[in-house]
Amino acid sequence: MSDTPQDRSDTRLAKLVLGLRSGGVTEAAVLAAIEQTPRDLFVPNLFQERAWEDSALPIACGQTISQPLIVGLMTQALHLKPRHRVLEIGTGSGYQTAVLARIARYVYTVERYRTLLGEAEARLKHLGLLNVISRFGDGGEGWREQAPFDRILVTAAAPEEPRKLLAQLKPNGVLVAPVGRGPVQTLLRYVGDAKGAFVKEELGEVRFVPLLSGVAREL
Ligand code: SAH
Repeated sequence: MSDTPQDRSDTRLAKLVLGLRSGGVTEAAVLAAIEQTPRDLFVPNLFQERAWEDSALPIACGQTISQPLIVGLMTQALHLKPRHRVLEIGTGSGYQTAVLARIARYVYTVERYRTLLGEAEARLKHLGLLNVISRFGDGGEGWREQAPFDRILVTAAAPEEPRKLLAQLKPNGVLVAPVGRGPVQTLLRYVGDAKGAFVKEELGEVRFVPLLSGVAREL
């Protein structure tokens, strides 16, 4: 008997999750959120066959959907709790947004391309993730009206310490961001204390598209 498309994607998902576990994603809530998020929905038609691979893939506007392992590690690094309000900078396809939304109370997400934002909003609605609030804008500025946040995740590479975003974090908050100007950046975690000071930790090397200032003029 030949297997159905559903069987095939189940097998690929199981393989992906095994890979994430051996790559260091061990938190049950994070693995469950990834398991519940159909990545094929976030990947362009041209790359459907590769939707369940553990690799970053091109999306519209010259951007990329993040590699699942990195999505898992970054989500885990946030120490996310169900009561948290999270700010995400760089909605892109909305894949990382969906994973966050399955764990946190609210996800506020900002994207500088209208096309990407519109498509991501449609996908998140289709998945019934009604706890996502999205906005077109320059995420480098954060989201002042909604600040402060329990957690902040930046999914584009900040050229330097993201000070404006750190200022929008609650006491004892956590911010995770790739920081660096080159093709390879350092994934950093800033853990705040009760007085507003931060301890900075390096979590490893990553490759992200740059965090650009201003909104995109093209669609
Ligand atoms: N988490 C996304 C990753 C998308 S790539 C996913 O898994 O699909 C990073 C995204 O950050 C791109 O969509 C890019 O347009 C966006 N971005 C870059 N600079 C930005 C800025 N200043 N404000 C908002 N979004 C930004």
